[in-house]
Amino acid sequence: MNFQQIKRLDETYGAETFSRFPVAIAGGCNATLVDTEGKEYVDFGAGIAVNVFGACDAEWKVAVTAQLDRIQHVSNLYYSEPQARLMELLCARTGAKRVFFANSGAEANECAFKAARKYSYLKYGSGRNKIVTLKNSFHGRTLFTLTATGQDAFHRYFDPFVGGVQSAESNMSAIRKTADETACAVVIEPVQGESGVTVLHPEFVRLLEAFCKERDILLIVDEVQTGNGRTGKLYAYEHYGIQPDILTTAKGLAGGLPLGACLFFGKTEHAFSAGDHGSTFGGNPVCCAAAINVISRLTNEFLLEVQGKSEYLRTKLRLTDGVRSVTGLGMMIGLETAKPAKEVVAECLAKGLLVLTAHDRVRIVPPLTITKCEMDEGLSVLKEVLK
Ligand SMILES: *Cc1c(COP(=O)(O)O)cnc(C)c1O
Repeated sequence: MNFQQIKRLDETYGAETFSRFPVAIAGGCNATLVDTEGKEYVDFGAGIAVNVFGACDAEWKVAVTAQLDRIQHVSNLYYSEPQARLMELLCARTGAKRVFFANSGAEANECAFKAARKYSYLKYGSGRNKIVTLKNSFHGRTLFTLTATGQDAFHRYFDPFVGGVQSAESNMSAIRKTADETACAVVIEPVQGESGVTVLHPEFVRLLEAFCKERDILLIVDEVQTGNGRTGKLYAYEHYGIQPDILTTAKGLAGGLPLGACLFFGKTEHAFSAGDHGSTFGGNPVCCAAAINVISRLTNEFLLEVQGKSEYLRTKLRLTDGVRSVTGLGMMIGLETAKPAKEVVAECLAKGLLVLTAHDRVRIVPPLTITKCEMDEGLSVLKEVLK
């Protein structure tokens, strides 16, 4: 099908939830993609921080197809080796005690919120159930995670929301007011992705951790976007020297297949018991085989390379005319630009570069395997567009 045919079908039959750019991506290799009309793009978006090894990575494909040759799905009524191995791998790499698999970031967060309430209920009885979130956060599109998303723009039309959720500014006096004796958890993104690639202040995060620990309020770290090597560490909380009680991740976890995970550390290890939570597809063996490939290749050496690429991009971007500031951590980069972010994205697209927006900033989240040549190509387009 050509682009116009695809567009017509989508516009006729698709729920009108997306305002799409006028391009249909047909394939690619690493950070170079091709559309249905044969035009090539450098990919600084990685399918929104998902394709950590870019398009069609050879080793990743072998892991996925080998599992497809065995079986494509096993219900959670039975054991399955890829799930078991991935659980072990995630725990070994993070120090987590137990893992629950979901299919998306929102579901991983739902799981975390439910676990936090159950933990508190078992220890303190009913009424201590408030989930405290931050202003300008993003935690997903289900009603619970939407309620937890501290951005009013997402809240129109969908009330009534889930009770027992309240958002606070990212400072300790706001947290002290909001996280009162009815709070069971505080959820943070180390780098707020959707609202502008804003790094939480390290001092605030450390004080928050101490505050939570003192009151036995669980610290949930939403690493749906920041996780899986994105910031140059396996998980971004490592930059802060803090210890989450629960960590959620998804996006890049399986390198392009739908998989979410909720990791339970120390005291939350036994929050759930049989029947408390579940998922039909969660922990699908093909997705888990993909994630085993991803996590086992995110070695310290690989992560050092990611940090090097990030420094390279950041240095070049800081020196680019039209860039007011460069935010974010590692390969999760925000740009404050003189030109409106929306225009930058549209002009880059026309010139063969895919970049994203995050609120009023330009967001760059390339495949972690992007080559120097691909970075340079993308940078030269950005330079032209921003000047
Ligand atoms: C993308 C994102 C989510 C939602 O993930 P889905 O897979 O779209 O449900 C949640 N939290 C953060 C921080 C995200 O970036």
